[in-house]
Amino acid sequence: MSYFGVDYYPEHWSASQMEEDLSGIKNLGANMIRIGEFAWHLMEPKEGEFDFSFFDTVIERAKAYHLKVMFGTPTATFPAWLAKKYPSILSEDEYGTLREFGGRRQYCFNSDVYRQYSARITRELVKHYANEEAIVVWQVDNEFGHEGSDDCYCGPCREAFQTFLRGKYNDIQELNERWGTIFWGQSYNDFNEIPAPAPTITTHNPSLKLDWARFRSYSLNSFAHEMTEIVREEKGAHQEITTNTTGDFFNKWFDHEENLQPMDFVSYDNYPVWGGLEQPIPPAEIAMALDFNRGLKDQNFWIVEELIGAQGHDVIGYLPRPNQAKLWSYQAFAHGCSNMLYFRWRGMTRGAEQFCYGVVDHDNQYGRKYREAQEVFQTMSNFEPLLEAPIEADVAVLYDYDNIWAWRSQIQTKDFDFKQEFMRLYQPFYDVNTKLDVIPADRDFSKYKVVVVPAMQVLDEDLANRLKEFAKAGGTVIFSFRAGLKDKDNTIYFGQPLPGPVADLAGIRVEEIESLTAEHRLSVKGEHELAEEESHMAIWRDLIVPEGAEVLYRYSDYFYKEYAAVTRNSYGRGEAYYIGGGLDVEGLRKIVKNIVTKHHIGFEESTRGVEVYSRKVKGEEYQFIMNHTDEEVSYDGIVLFPYETLLVEVK
Ligand SMILES: [Zn+2]
Repeated sequence: MSYFGVDYYPEHWSASQMEEDLSGIKNLGANMIRIGEFAWHLMEPKEGEFDFSFFDTVIERAKAYHLKVMFGTPTATFPAWLAKKYPSILSEDEYGTLREFGGRRQYCFNSDVYRQYSARITRELVKHYANEEAIVVWQVDNEFGHEGSDDCYCGPCREAFQTFLRGKYNDIQELNERWGTIFWGQSYNDFNEIPAPAPTITTHNPSLKLDWARFRSYSLNSFAHEMTEIVREEKGAHQEITTNTTGDFFNKWFDHEENLQPMDFVSYDNYPVWGGLEQPIPPAEIAMALDFNRGLKDQNFWIVEELIGAQGHDVIGYLPRPNQAKLWSYQAFAHGCSNMLYFRWRGMTRGAEQFCYGVVDHDNQYGRKYREAQEVFQTMSNFEPLLEAPIEADVAVLYDYDNIWAWRSQIQTKDFDFKQEFMRLYQPFYDVNTKLDVIPADRDFSKYKVVVVPAMQVLDEDLANRLKEFAKAGGTVIFSFRAGLKDKDNTIYFGQPLPGPVADLAGIRVEEIESLTAEHRLSVKGEHELAEEESHMAIWRDLIVPEGAEVLYRYSDYFYKEYAAVTRNSYGRGEAYYIGGGLDVEGLRKIVKNIVTKHHIGFEESTRGVEVYSRKVKGEEYQFIMNHTDEEVSYDGIVLFPYETLLVEVK
């Protein structure tokens, strides 16, 4: 059964409001409310005095309306009495400034005190409701790592970092050697001399920074897993466990796949627009985030916060146009969301999220947004088997957090943005409505036909060998610039030309490199089947000498017109493309079309802004046809109104 519902915070309203709210939620077509996260103080108003009576009442009333419950453990916001008693639980920013009580998520993952109190409230809560039939899902904490909460430079974190390194390296000599601390005379005699990468003059050792990122990930995930384990020990057999991820996952210091590993399913908070944004993020980026979340467990996922109204803390963002939030909901269902809860039932009159508009606004009138949510639930409740059906893609885009963290600490070129480089290779497939999976690079990718490897500068022999096997067996690999620059210690390969361990697969040698800005656009000219094409390169360029590969684009400027910009190399029964810089999406379009045609991968031409996503269930095929524009468009003879979605069976 699919769950549809809202994020409800009954503690924000007077008790007399609850019946009307639950009735309104039920009439929306909902069968679930999500409650509880952030309510630690309500459950433990004084140290050791547990009181769940408020939620007992809420759950009893919800049951009267046949609403199931997703309950969040409350550790993302701790009570003031705890911070007053133990200021050591507060995290510190890189300048050593203590994060005040007052916002949220300002605790340190390495605080033993915080872990003890978190463990206790989590255990008491879950034990209290283990036999509660209405609670079917536990959400652990809330939005791990969000808003910079995954980084902390406090004393215990520094010591824990040293302990982490002691566990990783056999001895200090090994660390010195692998990090190259001989440089700037930074050799250590003991692990207790190693600093956290807090601000210094110029910059820290790149290997130290990558290990710090891994340590941050370990800190957050070990907290998350400790809490998950407690929930698992105490919960009822009918209750599942999840946690909710946020959109900015490439800018987080923790490995998301590992984070979700002990949970039963992935939940995602889908906000296509947020405070201060004049425009929503582009449809392809929203889609990529959905694919990323599906890829975390290679299964369909929940959205437990789906945007319905304008949002922001101190600054409000773009107002979703009529039907636009509905369109985003359908897009999410298309990409594998199987259960959806809107954020939030009603905008709150007090507190920091006064400007997070919900299904209902502060005036408490049921208007356009209420009707839109109702339509979505009514429609999708007729398609439950489709929502559960797995998605099969022939193209996978790989990412690796070690690589992402290495880029975050050394962007190498002023305008580098990992997500942008990721999207550069994702977008041309999306544009022809080809399904993609977004998966960690250590996942087995042998079942795919095409594997896309954006900006993979940290690329070890293991990944290189797996990519070679994949190409040998007939697959197509697509690399972009800086591939194969570094090993897992974040040090540059010695004595081999770029792209390092995949140079033979790509059939090229990178002779020189140049960092470009976003404005500094160089023209490149097509060859072979791209002979008529012209395109542009920005952000970066590799000056490529083919060693077996054919040239697809070549630079046009005087000094470098002998050098290739984009190449293709036959390898075994397959091939490898190498994109030597930030090539315009237009320049990639024809290449991608050739690739999907060659592999007989499904694609659909559609007008710009129209997304078509096919799903199959029990021998039937359906298409979500989505108009992401504010104009009428037509697809396959059908006219779609601005932001309209059609879900049609393909005959
Ligand atoms: Zn800390």
